[in-house]
Amino acid sequence: MSTFRQRAMDLAANHQPERFFEDKRPISAYFGEDVFDLDKMSRYLSPSAYASVKDSVQNGKPVDRKVAGEIAEAMKTWALSKGATHFTHLFQPLTGNTAEKHDAFLDFRDGRPVEAFSGEALVQQEPDASSFPSGGLRNTFEARGYSAWDPTSPVFILDGTLCIPSVFVSYNGDALDMKVPHLRSLEALSKAATEVARIFDPEVNSVHVNIGLEQEYFLVDESLYNARPDLKLCERTVIGHTAAKDQQLADHYFGAIPSRAEAFMKDFETVAYKLGIRLITRHNEVAPNQFECAPVYTDASRAIDNNMTLMIIMQKVAGKHHLRVLFSEKPFDGINGSGKHCNWSMQSDKGVNLLKPSTDPEKNLQFLAFYSSVAKGVMDHNFLIMTSVCDLGNSYRLGGNEAPVPIMSIYSGSALTALFKDIINSNPNHFNSKAGFMKIAEELPEIELDNTDRNRTSPFAFTGNRFEFRALGSSANGASASYVINSAAAESLKEFKAEYDKKIAEGKDKKQAVLETVKDFLIAASPVMFDGNGYSKEWAEEAKKRGLEGVTNVPEAYKVYLTKSTEDLFGNLGVLSKREIEARYEVLNEQYVKKLQIEARVLGDICLNHVIPSAVEYQNILLKNIKETKAVFGDEYKEMCKSSIETVSKISAFINSLQAYVAELVERRKKANAVEDLPEKARLYSTGVKEMMDKARYCADHLEMLVDDELWPLPKYREMLFF
Ligand code: ADP
Ligand code: MG
Repeated sequence: MSTFRQRAMDLAANHQPERFFEDKRPISAYFGEDVFDLDKMSRYLSPSAYASVKDSVQNGKPVDRKVAGEIAEAMKTWALSKGATHFTHLFQPLTGNTAEKHDAFLDFRDGRPVEAFSGEALVQQEPDASSFPSGGLRNTFEARGYSAWDPTSPVFILDGTLCIPSVFVSYNGDALDMKVPHLRSLEALSKAATEVARIFDPEVNSVHVNIGLEQEYFLVDESLYNARPDLKLCERTVIGHTAAKDQQLADHYFGAIPSRAEAFMKDFETVAYKLGIRLITRHNEVAPNQFECAPVYTDASRAIDNNMTLMIIMQKVAGKHHLRVLFSEKPFDGINGSGKHCNWSMQSDKGVNLLKPSTDPEKNLQFLAFYSSVAKGVMDHNFLIMTSVCDLGNSYRLGGNEAPVPIMSIYSGSALTALFKDIINSNPNHFNSKAGFMKIAEELPEIELDNTDRNRTSPFAFTGNRFEFRALGSSANGASASYVINSAAAESLKEFKAEYDKKIAEGKDKKQAVLETVKDFLIAASPVMFDGNGYSKEWAEEAKKRGLEGVTNVPEAYKVYLTKSTEDLFGNLGVLSKREIEARYEVLNEQYVKKLQIEARVLGDICLNHVIPSAVEYQNILLKNIKETKAVFGDEYKEMCKSSIETVSKISAFINSLQAYVAELVERRKKANAVEDLPEKARLYSTGVKEMMDKARYCADHLEMLVDDELWPLPKYREMLFF
């Protein structure tokens, strides 16, 4: 076997399950021990400083600079007691990853080293912002940007460094990260939702969003990963023939977890628990070597920070296990890709889940108000919401038969759908009659029965007390979709309240005003309401008739960010200014182009330097055999070497085509690179460049089936996908 591949396989075979972070105590005994939470703050701070920071933590207010010094001192004392030596602002730039720059708790007084950490350093840092994508925001005004502590998310210690969750903004306050628009959207939603919640309970003061992110991922042995240039540089295989057996037998899903994977899971869970991440579920996913973990839901901002930290931890812990975690959406062709299902709901400060149907008629009225508002918001911005999850990686997954089609629809389940139909078809007076109202009130509890009736083909499914947005990609920052959903819901809830107020002014009573508004909103949302099979051809056609557009080309879809409707949505709610939207639009296109450019280069390299040489080598072996057969048997060789001759011709044909496609791929890239206009460049990449990559891959994958296994240089799917 190719020595390169053989060595990787030998190394992989030696990697055994092992534990590195085992803690024998019960989870509850160490849960959150590496987090500086309110409880610890109360022990380390003076009562006045504690009161001030508590207010910031709970209400998202900036920390009072006067107490920042004391808080920093307390954090330092705690961090040093836990062996930390450094601190960092941990932020979420527009790359979609996290960013960190470590500084030591070190100062020199009279030339002598002392541990130091100032309030200034805690509250604000100035990373060299020029190297982060900004979509031109920093060029237009100030070249600098700064990161600032977000006190709503607690600081924690990871690998001896105190991590301070932060936002990242330019000097004139423009958002340069994923977190700022998310926090703004949560505030806008709270305001709008509180107004509607007060119709039912005047005591409500705020509404927050709860999010539970299910994280899917693949595991690959580190030496096999290192032997694949595509995995190393793109986190996905750009060539590779499917294995004879992969997920057909559905024998991996929920199967016994392979020991190596389980040891890894237990280790990263232990680390995560210490950081207060509420992981609760682990299981095998559908594809071989694909897995999932899920936490108990928590407050939206925290849930997303936790998920970003979780991805860091998983990769770090994987290193100890000689594993690599693949978070990319479609690392292997022909089998399931990975998502990050976003479970989303709203809760009042009175602890009521506003999307939970109840047996109390009053509360059901509230449920209907919120459900119909979310539905209408999703309808009004259906294409934008779908686009919010689209990037290069997820474009390989969406529309596959295991992931939602990139057309927005909401699954409500049969009980709710029947009820909505009743509401829509009712005479408005009906809502006022006791009988009509009671009917609605009585029918709702039955929804509980419907909970198990999951529709896995729906991108936005109601699952009993929350919506599950299933289109989000596994590598995504959850904020990318959440801020759009929050904004759409906020806008719609604002409209709901305005409509309701109008009806009250017309002299209608509360129930009637609510139900009539619900009815109007359900009618408006009806195009996006769909309970059937989202994978079917019929749905694609039906959706078109309903005026729902699907994402077929990612850069093309990005243009939705520049529409008036998007500008109004984000602008009116104070989530993103026009300038900030345009900057994001630029960054999205830029990232798309750069990622695809890397993939195309890697593909060209693999084809020319790995695939073709081994194919030629095999061809030569066959030719030698043919030649020698001829020398011994004369003319009989033609019959005797029929199969070898055919194989040589096939290989030649594929090599020639492959070479031509790679040459054309380079040409198309050159042409695209010469284009100044970024969206046009992205369009050329998404069409011409991608087309040539598919053609080249087709040839390379066929060659994999023709060339002697001994000579094939790259680990094959069957070798990477099974422990
Ligand atoms: P499934 O795979 O069946 O969708 P999981 O248990 O894997 O279910 O994940 C469900 C996720 O939804 C968990 O993170 C869970 O905490 C979260 N969740 C449950 N209730 C709510 C809610 N009201 N709001 C937000 N998320 C929720
Ligand atoms: Mg799940």
